[in-house]
Amino acid sequence: MKTRLRTDLTIRQICEGFQYSESEEKGLFGWAGKLTIQPEYQRNYIYANGKDDVAVIDSLLKGYPIGLIYFVETERDKYEILDGQQRITSIGRYITNKFAWIDENDIPYKFESLPKDKQEKIYNTELTIYICSGDESEIKEWFKTINIAGKPLNNQELLNSIYSGTFITKAKEIFSNSQNSNLHKWLSYMKVEVKRQGLLEVALSWVSKDWEKDGNLEKYMANHRHDDNINELTSYFNDVINWVSTIFIDVKDEMQYINWGKMYEKYHKNPYNSNEISKKLNELYSDYFVTDKKGCYEYILNGCRKEDTKLLNIRIFDEPTKKTVYERQTQEAKLKAVSNCPMCVIENLSNKVKIWDYKDMDADHVTAWSKGGSTDIINCQMLCRTHNRIKGNR
Ligand SMILES: [Zn+2]
Repeated sequence: MKTRLRTDLTIRQICEGFQYSESEEKGLFGWAGKLTIQPEYQRNYIYANGKDDVAVIDSLLKGYPIGLIYFVETERDKYEILDGQQRITSIGRYITNKFAWIDENDIPYKFESLPKDKQEKIYNTELTIYICSGDESEIKEWFKTINIAGKPLNNQELLNSIYSGTFITKAKEIFSNSQNSNLHKWLSYMKVEVKRQGLLEVALSWVSKDWEKDGNLEKYMANHRHDDNINELTSYFNDVINWVSTIFIDVKDEMQYINWGKMYEKYHKNPYNSNEISKKLNELYSDYFVTDKKGCYEYILNGCRKEDTKLLNIRIFDEPTKKTVYERQTQEAKLKAVSNCPMCVIENLSNKVKIWDYKDMDADHVTAWSKGGSTDIINCQMLCRTHNRIKGNR
């Protein structure tokens, strides 16, 4: 890979003919058509937040350097931005009056309303640009290492750059597009940042069944890199969304934290009655003893089994309750000269008269929560740790 440094190019030159696509949310071209601002392996424009973009303009007006910019020369006199697209897009959008810079008196100025001398100051700023040429893999490998300034690429953004091609271009049109009309529905079932490729990552993890981040997603991207369609990706994604939205007719916040792809794989062959599920779900949601609402979904999908109550993280007895019960049991046991663990007494083995310390005992629901037992002092007994574990597993 060869590089040469240019410090003579001004913002006026680089932003000549600047084009930005609102619908794709990316800078397209500059430098009179010679520069592709956002090649497909780059992430979406994420500086349009009134802070990062304004800070770039602020730096220019104060004469601060905005850092190194890297171009790749892809063919003779044609370039792509390798690093610096967020900054260049911010500048181009400012010059085309897409947002305002705020002065020290809190007065907003779009470019057209700036005093002439300030406009010229921006136009005449010289950028520091490294122009590189080399083969594609070499450049992308290097791109990974230079991308440390500003907001580093996250894992999916990196994968998009490594496996750029027809497949990822088409996939991004659907899953990285914050204008997609289905987003509102989709985002009920996942908590992700669309622009940072979170939705795409979910869709890919579902179709590749990469539940544990064990590399299936990356393999899937590699295998499909040059596909000319994304049919499998979209149909699998839609199957999962349709499945969950049909089974759970209420949309609740906790649903965003569940891996629905995994649930779909485990349970989609079972029949469900969505009205009964709704009733059961609302029952669990209003149950004081259920402390993990996220757990309700798999608990229900798997048939509300006793052995799954751990998913609900049933409220446990508090310390004062446990201490009171311990004192009472221990006093009674001492009077009868038997163990203070009622199960040790029944077993009639070596521990049948053992008085356990408080720290060696745990609270147990006499009647299990799953059978309607409450987390109340009258339903509390202390058992030695061994027996508590045995009873809990039954
Ligand atoms: Zn015991």
